[in-house]
Amino acid sequence: MRIWLDGSLREVDDARVSVFDHGLTVGDGVFETVKATDGVPFALTRHLDRLAVSARGMGLPAPDLDEVRRACAAVLDGNPMPLGRLRITYTGGHSPLGSDRGDAGPTLVVALGEAARRPDTTAVVTVPWTRNEHGALAGLKTTSYGENVIALARARQDGATEALFANTAGRLCEGTGSNVFVVLDGELHTPPLTSGCLAGITRALVAEWSGARETDLPMDVLDRADEIFLTSSLRDVQAVHRVGPRTLGDAPGPVTAKAMRLFEERSAAVPEP
Ligand code: PLP
Repeated sequence: MRIWLDGSLREVDDARVSVFDHGLTVGDGVFETVKATDGVPFALTRHLDRLAVSARGMGLPAPDLDEVRRACAAVLDGNPMPLGRLRITYTGGHSPLGSDRGDAGPTLVVALGEAARRPDTTAVVTVPWTRNEHGALAGLKTTSYGENVIALARARQDGATEALFANTAGRLCEGTGSNVFVVLDGELHTPPLTSGCLAGITRALVAEWSGARETDLPMDVLDRADEIFLTSSLRDVQAVHRVGPRTLGDAPGPVTAKAMRLFEERSAAVPEP
């Protein structure tokens, strides 16, 4: 396994990050996960743009996106695999304990892992914790993912693969690593970005191709939606067949099945500048 670290490709055993790296000590970092099929990353430009937005939100120096792009190409070249998850991590860099970010500059790591094809349907739960749509981290993809890790562990205990959050107003927000869509009276809806959810790249494409409306939704839509599905870079479109104790009989239903089909057909042709 060969990893990009700070300017060059290295064998994983030679890739060393300081134990005082701010990403490790205080979660001062941002990241992207990109699907790569046969060495070709999906929607890389959109991921790089979002990395820059997250970095700005965290107050990190702007990443050199040409370097990140070169790093992704090198890692994909150096680790051929049919379906991979490319992970770009960009942190505040290292500085002595107890001090602010030092002058050493940010740390950039790009790595690739094998990705399994996700099943077409899955079970989700809701969790008792809220996403703070007014918080400093709202909408940023940062390495401060502790809340997501805890919520996902709860989901796994309950035999599910994803947990859904409400925001502080009690409205539907998103999953730990996915956006959520619901079908009500035949119409497709997804929470707006003001709910505090991440501006998911898959969410934006699916909303455009399937004509979803952005709607501020109460949590009880999960009790009455005809269909529910999740989107993310590694899931694409994934139907929900169980939410908490409720089973959605014939998932994927017709609207979800159509969203899946459109995504599969059109994602091959998303332009990369
Ligand atoms: N919401 C959160 C919190 C995420 O971490 C992710 C992706 O990892 C998503 C939504 C889905 O975003 P995307 O479709 O860009 O992968």
